[in-house]
Amino acid sequence: MTSKVNPKVEPDHVLELEHAVIDDMDISGHWNRMFEQRVIFDYDIGQLDRVTDLDGGESMGWCYQCGQCVPVCPVDHVGSYGPRKIFRNLQLGQDLFTDDDLWLCTTCANCLRVCPKEVDMLQIMPAVRKEAVLAGGVPAELQDVFEKTARYGNPLGQNAKRRAAWTKGLDVEVPLISELGRKVDVLWWVSDYPAYHPRGIDASRALARVLHHLGVDFAILGAEERHDGDSMLRAGETGLFEMLAEHNIEVLNNYEFDVLLTTDPHAYNAFLHEYPQRGGTYNVVHYTQFLEQRLDELGLSETIDRTITFHDPCYLGRHNGEYDAPRSLIDALPGSEFVEMWRNRENGYCCGGGGGGMWLDGLAADNQSMRLSEKRVLEAVETGADTLCVVCPYEVSRFEDAVKSTNNDDKLEVLDIAELLAAALGLSNAQVG
Ligand code: SF4
Ligand code: SF4
Repeated sequence: MTSKVNPKVEPDHVLELEHAVIDDMDISGHWNRMFEQRVIFDYDIGQLDRVTDLDGGESMGWCYQCGQCVPVCPVDHVGSYGPRKIFRNLQLGQDLFTDDDLWLCTTCANCLRVCPKEVDMLQIMPAVRKEAVLAGGVPAELQDVFEKTARYGNPLGQNAKRRAAWTKGLDVEVPLISELGRKVDVLWWVSDYPAYHPRGIDASRALARVLHHLGVDFAILGAEERHDGDSMLRAGETGLFEMLAEHNIEVLNNYEFDVLLTTDPHAYNAFLHEYPQRGGTYNVVHYTQFLEQRLDELGLSETIDRTITFHDPCYLGRHNGEYDAPRSLIDALPGSEFVEMWRNRENGYCCGGGGGGMWLDGLAADNQSMRLSEKRVLEAVETGADTLCVVCPYEVSRFEDAVKSTNNDDKLEVLDIAELLAAALGLSNAQVG
């Protein structure tokens, strides 16, 4: 029997025996026809292999394109991004090591929260970035921050010796632990923006007043403190992170204290998850958690006639599971009303500052329709709130810039919870109430 191949079938892919008789049954020709395996994966996966071969990059290869991560990636809402798209682009030959896409992920962890395959951008991106850093392929604006941090110990490039300058002229005392020469109950890890940025200083001064009001025995490190390094690690500058961590642990281990109080969720994250492996284990508490535990002692009395919405910092919320402490403090403000944005808690939207994004606004502008902080400010305005409450020092400056650039100056004010609490205690110089 001569077999004829259906014209719709590719003859090269047909497998059949011209003569075949099995158990007296003639199944010659098309009766025994089979087909070669269809090629459903016909890509050069060299670029994908370069990523999955890295320590930390392995899970990039586990993506099965289910799309769960698409609606939750904050960058995708203002551009075209997310693990699913990065996996696909790698299949199509994208060189992630030199592409702008490498720097857009803020390590916000929302994709990991929903991914059934545990594709972990928190490991993948730093692993690839580390290679880009070693190859000198870092965006200039971020490289500038790496260099300032290495030189001055803070990303703002401020004089290291002036780290405690914000305490001068303050109506309450903020002692240096080195000058006290004794154990304290609370060592306050102030961080960079709260020490140097004008609006960060406002919040630091407010928090110092609140701590005094509570009678807390506390001190700060001042010039001995350096950047915690967490964001440098996520941005791939592991050498710089190790240098900072080594210095900070050496300093901290010189002093006795019961609680290490952090203002910055990024520092909080580093002390919880990175420093212990390097010899620095502390009883670390975020300031919202510390104050929530003392809410009854605070005695908030002044009316705060505001409608307040709240932004969850990724590194306090999704990374470390703390959603309630800031909300308890806001709820306790006398006379205020609290409204949630539609993306909140586990699905909170990222401000764009994590993973090095704090210093990559230029790159973001080239690749996104708007900054994540602008998107978030629009969501805050949508709630009808007049106040956007923050509990991460990266956010005051980011959101204040975004309020201006979206022309919402007359609608929304950005305030740290410490400023609101100080106002509710009648301790604020600013017109917060
Ligand atoms: S959720 Fe995970 S598996 Fe699904 S497309 Fe995204 S990265 Fe891939
Ligand atoms: S970590 Fe956040 S920004 Fe990065 S890819 Fe995942 S969802 Fe997007």
